[in-house]
Amino acid sequence: AVPEGEESSGQKDEMRDEKRDEKAAAAALTFAMLRARCRELETRFHDAGLRPGDVVSVFMGNGNQTATLLLGAMYSGLVAHPLNLLCQASQLRYIVEHSDTRMIFACDETVDALAAVLAELREAGSTREIALVRTAPDALELPMLPVLPTLETAFAEASAPAAVALRREGASAASTGASREAARSAPCHADDIALLMYTSGTTGAPKGVQLSHRNLLANARNISAEHRLGAEDRVLASLPLYHINGLVVTLVTPLYHAGSVAMAPRFSTRTFWRDAARYGCTWINVVPTIVAYLLNGDGPLGFDLSALKFCRSASAALPGDHHRAFEARFGIGIIETMGMTETAAPAFSNPYEPARRRVGSIGLPSGGEAKVIDLEGRECAPNQSGEIVLRGEQVMRGYYKRPEETAKAFTADGWLRTGDLGYRDDEGYFYINGRAKELIIKGGENIAPREVDEALLRHPGVLDAAAVGVPDPAYGQEIVAFVVPRESHWPGGAPDADALRAHCLRELGRYKTPKEIRFVSELPRGPSGKVQRLKLVAPPPD
Ligand code: ATP
Ligand code: MG
Repeated sequence: AVPEGEESSGQKDEMRDEKRDEKAAAAALTFAMLRARCRELETRFHDAGLRPGDVVSVFMGNGNQTATLLLGAMYSGLVAHPLNLLCQASQLRYIVEHSDTRMIFACDETVDALAAVLAELREAGSTREIALVRTAPDALELPMLPVLPTLETAFAEASAPAAVALRREGASAASTGASREAARSAPCHADDIALLMYTSGTTGAPKGVQLSHRNLLANARNISAEHRLGAEDRVLASLPLYHINGLVVTLVTPLYHAGSVAMAPRFSTRTFWRDAARYGCTWINVVPTIVAYLLNGDGPLGFDLSALKFCRSASAALPGDHHRAFEARFGIGIIETMGMTETAAPAFSNPYEPARRRVGSIGLPSGGEAKVIDLEGRECAPNQSGEIVLRGEQVMRGYYKRPEETAKAFTADGWLRTGDLGYRDDEGYFYINGRAKELIIKGGENIAPREVDEALLRHPGVLDAAAVGVPDPAYGQEIVAFVVPRESHWPGGAPDADALRAHCLRELGRYKTPKEIRFVSELPRGPSGKVQRLKLVAPPPD
């Protein structure tokens, strides 16, 4: 979801947009069509020698075909594995090799990079056979995918695995016998792995999270219920399907509540509001970087956004000021949520009722239980900080081929360790201060980098900021803040370091004021728009 820069608008763009819209309307994919394609794929996968549990990778941008391939693999009892488009060659090689994939779908833009990786693997002595299939993100080169709500009953049974549910829909049709025959592979079970999804790699090497049909469905059910979604709802899906948020929240969840999806090829400030209006979207799903980009952009101008009920934000902390500014300027309430790849997207969500939402909080546990524990594993009292741990039906069983990492990810009594530090207030709302691995410890005092970031962001000349701890002989660690200046919004040009330090002194006091401010043109971000804070000072630890 790395937002595209502003493109030059003009006649050319408009003509292109119009063409795109026409094509999109013609490309509407109904549930019946989707199911038929999944069945076709099942036969093709089977004929290609793939068997239940085999991994099928997709290395393409968002689109009709990408969505169909991922769902088709799950439908066929295989493990869907979306590859992150922003992977560099070395990461790609690591993941392709580590995933034990049997078949990779690539498009014109990605096929060469993949072919190079496969050649390298062969040269290095790998004898694994990996089929490389060239296709397009969207078979018809159509960027939008309005899925029409024609599937009434299939996903009603909440505990059924997604593939079985799709199957059952077929079985309930007149051609029951024929569809059974067509299903050649054994029907899968709720606890079979449906998805292999690597983590964002914010704090180390990406880990392959194994998620079952049960995990995915648990969240589809939670999200649908918590956001009160139904067949009349349509989401603008502009987050990448190779990230857990985009895949589970904006593709699997609408399947569950039989809603529909307007699939944008990628996020773009130029088309975002227009698409939301034109396709009658009732909700949008964003990450904090997108909120920042939209606040920096022209806004919805004349577009009619009256159908929009709410905006959902996840993946990283949404700065409180951005939250409030977005709601004030666009009149759309934000529901902040918190999710992890390990929990198949959300683990916390703010309530649906605006009055019960809390700015700066990740909300209440969603579809499970959560608590805060101290270093000894004892539960902390309300408002006392520690590590947030959770359990629930959406939690993964483990990382693929990383037993040590898996063991470390759970407490002795089976709670998933989020690695996030935070607290629960008296009313049960959870708050994240930062990550355990990113905590700055200065002279024995814990400093959450997020507090420093947010203080800097309150300065009008700051577009983006990230504080990190660096070794210091006197204090153990000192604070260095990396700042992206907002040149255009500052009358006298960008602010200087002294002005920002003076601002921090007022906001944070001497102890938490960064010793040094370094100006950069952008912060390193992962695919979900998260700042890779540790990369600013050193390569992240493995
Ligand atoms: P890695 O585990 O490889 O270092 P990652 O943790 O960033 O990468 P993801 O699974 O994509 O990989 O992200 C989950 C993390 O994102 C959470 O543990 C939390 O730190 C962060 N996060 C998600 N939503 C929020 C939120 N609303 N507020 C603060 N942090 C959030
Ligand atoms: Mg993580």
